[in-house]
Amino acid sequence: NPVLVAMDLKDYIRDVPDFPEPGILFRDITTLLAEPGALRYAIDALADKVAGLAPDYVAGIESRGFIFGTPLALALGCGFVPVRKPGKLPAAVFREEYTLEYGKNVLEIHQDALGTASRVLVVDDLLATGGTAAATAQLIHRAGGTVVGFGFIIELTFLNGRARLPEGTPAVALVSY
Ligand code: AMP
Repeated sequence: NPVLVAMDLKDYIRDVPDFPEPGILFRDITTLLAEPGALRYAIDALADKVAGLAPDYVAGIESRGFIFGTPLALALGCGFVPVRKPGKLPAAVFREEYTLEYGKNVLEIHQDALGTASRVLVVDDLLATGGTAAATAQLIHRAGGTVVGFGFIIELTFLNGRARLPEGTPAVALVSY
């Protein structure tokens, strides 16, 4: 996209200390969403970086992965597949449990969401420890798809989440802390 003028998205991301618990610095993207120029830039810049991966589907992780994943799918001309919290998807699902720092999380995907040999780009707002994205990659695999890449708005590099993602699969982030 030749008319894409670089923006510093950090100017639009709000830092909220001690949320959701003491010691966590929450990177809040609601302030970015509210700014039309920043929102458009985020989608266009991410589309620019992942277009070469030629996905058939964007798989967005509930909830903030839906917000960025759907317009990204439109920009790339591919379909959108929701990866949801448990009990939300109505048809038969695959289910992955994974451990967080405190407790467990579960994600689900429709068993028939993907055609076999589908190329899938996994999208979320933020890569932290990588547990969420790795569990999603597992779901894509079980549904017969191939994960061709990961796209994030934000990466917390000090948590080294990339190490938990499938080796050799590209991961793109627009902003790093
Ligand atoms: P992880 O599984 O550790 O990579 O965590 C990623 C998920 O947790 C993403 O869906 C993020 O939205 C959320 N998350 C983790 N850490 C933060 C943070 N510091 N600020 C905002 N969201 C976060």
